Amino acid sequence: MNDLKNSTNSGDIETTAYEESAVSSVGAGVGGGLSEIKKNIVAMLSLRNAVFFPGRIYQIDISTERDILAVQYSVDNKTPLFVATQKENASEPLLPDDCHSIGVIAEITDRINIQGGSVRVVVKTEARAVKLDTISTDGFGKVAVQVLQDRHCDGYDANVAAENLKRKNVAVKGFEKYVTLMNQRVASLTGKLAKLQDAGLVADIIADNLPIGLEAKQSVLNAIVVEERLEILLMSLYGEIEIAETQRDIEEKLHKKLNKNQKEYFLREQIKVIQTELGDDTELETEVMEMKKKLASLKLPKAINVKLEREIDRYSRMNASSAESAVIRSYVSLILDLPWKKTTKDNEDIVKAESILEGDHYGLEKVKERILEYLAVRQLNKKMKGQIICLVGPPGVGKTSIGKSIAKALGRNYTRMSLGGVRDEAEIRGHRRTYIGAIPGRIISCIKDAGTRNPLILLDEIDKLAGDFRGDPAGALLEVLDSEQNKDFTDHYLEIPFDLSDVIFIATANTLSTIPRPLLDRMEVIEISGYTEDEKLNIAAKYLVPKKLAEHGLSASTCTISDTAIKEIIRGYTRESGVRNLERKIADICRKAAVRIVKEDIRSVKVAERSVSKYLGKKKYRFDIVAGEDQVGVVTGLAWTSVGGETLSIEVNILDGGSGKLKITGQVGDVMKESAEAALSFVRTISKDYKIDEKLYTSKDVHIHIPEGAIPKDGPSAGITMATAIVSAFSGIKVSRFVAMTGEVTLRGRVLPIGGLKEKALAALRAGIKTVLYPIENQSDFEELPEELRTAMEFVPVKNMKQVLKLALVK
Ligand code: ADP
Repeated sequence: MNDLKNSTNSGDIETTAYEESAVSSVGAGVGGGLSEIKKNIVAMLSLRNAVFFPGRIYQIDISTERDILAVQYSVDNKTPLFVATQKENASEPLLPDDCHSIGVIAEITDRINIQGGSVRVVVKTEARAVKLDTISTDGFGKVAVQVLQDRHCDGYDANVAAENLKRKNVAVKGFEKYVTLMNQRVASLTGKLAKLQDAGLVADIIADNLPIGLEAKQSVLNAIVVEERLEILLMSLYGEIEIAETQRDIEEKLHKKLNKNQKEYFLREQIKVIQTELGDDTELETEVMEMKKKLASLKLPKAINVKLEREIDRYSRMNASSAESAVIRSYVSLILDLPWKKTTKDNEDIVKAESILEGDHYGLEKVKERILEYLAVRQLNKKMKGQIICLVGPPGVGKTSIGKSIAKALGRNYTRMSLGGVRDEAEIRGHRRTYIGAIPGRIISCIKDAGTRNPLILLDEIDKLAGDFRGDPAGALLEVLDSEQNKDFTDHYLEIPFDLSDVIFIATANTLSTIPRPLLDRMEVIEISGYTEDEKLNIAAKYLVPKKLAEHGLSASTCTISDTAIKEIIRGYTRESGVRNLERKIADICRKAAVRIVKEDIRSVKVAERSVSKYLGKKKYRFDIVAGEDQVGVVTGLAWTSVGGETLSIEVNILDGGSGKLKITGQVGDVMKESAEAALSFVRTISKDYKIDEKLYTSKDVHIHIPEGAIPKDGPSAGITMATAIVSAFSGIKVSRFVAMTGEVTLRGRVLPIGGLKEKALAALRAGIKTVLYPIENQSDFEELPEELRTAMEFVPVKNMKQVLKLALVK
């Protein structure tokens, strides 16, 4: 009964006998002459989230069986529904008492079945009603209700009526204000409300349209007295307006704040623009101007000029801090830094050039001669293009360093480009600029470093170029070296052709065998062989010692190294074709001498043969390594490798219980294996001469071994050595340990020519050999050997195996 209190202060709800009622008997709607209170028994519909007000049309979807039955009852009996709102803590199943007692009488105007067994019902609410009693709860609630008519307060008069009208207008105005605050568009409704005279109805309509809580709405519904209803409504309405105003306030503040942030952002951007206008921009501008000035001064071909101008313009429009701008900048500055037109004038003074070459290097006649020839021809024919010379020889013979002094002699700028281990074509020709971190190739970098377009570029270790899936660097290099193509050499990064035709290329290599053929064809090969002991002594005394002394702050007056001491170093501390280790050892001595001068406070240091070990420690090599005695089946051969000549000791064993098979071990190549087969075949043809039993060839195996297999030995030059060892092994005749030989053998026993006689002879000398057997066809090579070498050992040119065996086998 609590609900009724609000609305029943005027007292008189009658509870009399009930009768079943038809819809029509419920009255004609609010303000429409419900003058008498009627008591009816009707079905009850409960609302969970809404409060219905009289005089309105509502649509509800109902799904519970109870509600569906109630509607059915109402339709079947043509009676209205009593629609009331559930109380807050309503129980389930819902009982009529769980709803507020005051609700509305409603007439069903439409009913359709919708999905899922629910029913959509449209109802027209007629008037307030109060539940008087619950008649039954069987399936649905059946209740006795009484229609409630709007009332006025006690002492209602014209004044009160006028006051009501005022309040009604206030409510309508308030509602209008609320609606505008909430940005809702219900202008038609507010217009209608202003025209309505019935303050109670207006209050109901406004309450129905306000987003106030269910309890607040129910309070309005409960108010049967119009004045009271207006008051309750106005309170709720102003509460809502206040909320809406606060909300708008907050929103406005928020909006202002956002605006402020946007403003700040805008201002900051402006500052940035202003800053670039004032500072950075002028910097950029001057940079761009300088770029353009430089470009103009380069007087590049028109197409290139246009391309570059475009790049510079792009750069000038870019944000200076962007990554792309940095990329364009380095591209443009590379191009501007390249010596497109800058050249050095070649030295035309041959005498001066010669003295420069002589001043830097001992010997190396062929190289020096070739350079002087070049200079001479160049003076007679100015159009002669750059040359490509390839210096081939063992390490430490001065290939790289002569390259540098050639540049000096010619008056060219010098850069060196090491090709050892270069696998990627892009290293030569550059990366395309679309790659992140793209850089120009090494050729272009070299040109830039050199600073002229006609430098001397030393292509160091061209024989160590490698190729893999990343492309063929040799192919790219081919293009660089080809005088037909290199006029328009295009680096992938540069994208602009650069003329390389005036560049002098000097390549160095240890061996020609790994240089790709087409590349080799484009080069003029000059071989530099290893040095003899005498040559080394000269190099050391005239070049290395003075150089090292100067480097260590010493001079000829503070430190002297005697010739015999140098010889001792050469023999006891180095074993090489070149002079690299010799140079190192001399540096060692210089360092130690410097320590002595500083520490022991002495004026000068003299290094003699005896004192070498004091500086360099114990001797590492014995010059004369031929020790022991002559052996059966062991012969000294001479081999040529990329690091110089070498002696190799070939051993042959005859194995019992075999079947005439040939086995060859040690690190040997295929050519050597074939060479061994040929040697064995030949030996079988001369068995009688050496009293070898023919049966041995089928009953025994031959095992040839080539020790010291660290360097693969290939190339046909060990044939006579193997044949000699085989004959010795089969015949049991010893071979002289002082004889070394080199040469290939045919099946008829003819000795074929070989290469690298000088390297081989040097190796033989180092090993203490006394007699060197070499193919007679290499006679001219022998004649080219330095006098010192030719006289140091006995050289015997051999024509066939008979001669070889005669000289090698011990009688
Ligand atoms: P490579 O390039 O042939 O391996 P380098 O040019 O590096 O040899 O030479 C090694 C060192 O030996 C250098 O200091 C060089 O000056 C010196 N050298 C080599 N040959 C001679 C020579 N004929 N005269 C003077 N110095 C030499």
